[in-house]
Amino acid sequence: MTYLPQEIIRKKRDGQVLSLEEIQFFAKGMGDESISEGQVAAFAMAVYFNGLTMDERVALTLAMRNSGEVLNWDDLRGRGPIIDKHSTGGVGDVVSLMLGPLLAACGGFVPMISGRGLGHTGGTLDKLESIPGYNAFPDNDLFRKVVDQTGVAIIGQTGTLAPADRRFYAIRDVTATVESIDLITSSILSKKLAAGLDALVMDVKVGDGAFMATYEASRELAQSIADVATRAGTPTTALLTDMNQCLASSAGNAVEVMEAIRFLKDEYRNPRLNTVTMALCAEVLESSGLAGSRDEAMLLLENQLSSGRAAELFGDMVRALGGPKDFLEQPTKYLPESAITRPVFPESSGKVMNMDTRGLGMLVVQLGGGRRRADDLIDHSVGMSELAAVGTNVDEGWPLCMLHVKSEESFAMAEKEIRRCFAIGEGSASEVQEIYERITPDN
Ligand code: URA
Repeated sequence: MTYLPQEIIRKKRDGQVLSLEEIQFFAKGMGDESISEGQVAAFAMAVYFNGLTMDERVALTLAMRNSGEVLNWDDLRGRGPIIDKHSTGGVGDVVSLMLGPLLAACGGFVPMISGRGLGHTGGTLDKLESIPGYNAFPDNDLFRKVVDQTGVAIIGQTGTLAPADRRFYAIRDVTATVESIDLITSSILSKKLAAGLDALVMDVKVGDGAFMATYEASRELAQSIADVATRAGTPTTALLTDMNQCLASSAGNAVEVMEAIRFLKDEYRNPRLNTVTMALCAEVLESSGLAGSRDEAMLLLENQLSSGRAAELFGDMVRALGGPKDFLEQPTKYLPESAITRPVFPESSGKVMNMDTRGLGMLVVQLGGGRRRADDLIDHSVGMSELAAVGTNVDEGWPLCMLHVKSEESFAMAEKEIRRCFAIGEGSASEVQEIYERITPDN
């Protein structure tokens, strides 16, 4: 049966429920461009105002997923589940670099399709590209080989996954229709489920550095994603985690890779980053059956860190994807170093009461560590490390951070901005909570 796009738009405009076939027709048309940009935009606006039912959301997710290649891992499934995490993104959110090898060390297979930085948030792909030679766009055979042999491959999204979403998202972006929880759910999941996962954990950030504007919106998105993904056949839970301060001790590209390596080698684990990473890993270890309980998952994870197994797998993945053979052993030999690395001290001593997380993320972009335009080249060496956490006392001997920049001019600008981003005072600082809530599917 064939449909008229304008009739589908009219139905949604009038608040009616679309059939599975109508949604499949529309998603196919978005992917193969048989439906015009104007019609896609009108559909997006109709959904923005009238929403989608749970059935419609599942149907749109699966139809957009099926508009391109869906990875099949049946050859690996007998040896372990196919698992992954997705985050709505944040500042210093380097979780994926540890989570991937940790889950692989625990017996899972992690074919992680990661993205570039968006707005003030960093991207896993940009971070990995700090590593010389790392090929984030391997051909399919190499990608499959690395997942098979090391259990984890973190790569970039190719044009073959969920093309309907790629076009839909680009049109939403310029028609003020991104901020629809129904559409965000389908968009994120169409891409994530195209990776052929058995279980997924979702990290939805909350706070001033988060993608969603309010706690309620983050919660609603987390519930929607857990429900839709689970209904679509991939058991999914979600954690609402804090983004009112930088998650790691660093923000930037090479500096975050360095922090991930130190974490994996068990040399230094930022407590917030540790709590969030381990909790996300434990969620998916349990939902995929690799661990029978939270305690078992935590024990398994600690063992994979202390034995060095997770670190070893990270090194194997880097090597297999074209990076240096001894990257794990000698990361500083390879990671790009900024021309100037110098501390930024506060103007007055006191306690870090809170920080403008979004401002710090935007500063990384301004320094050249992120993009203003999609085709910008980025400077992987810039950023901040040793960032003081909320509640830390800072003074003329204890800096707000180490700043990595390319010139004195950048340093002067960034020093001022960093001082602005940190609120220094006396008394009790904002309460720090890493994980606010665990969201399980409703159905
Ligand atoms: N990220 C996505 O992939 N899709 C959205 O709709 C919003 C954020």
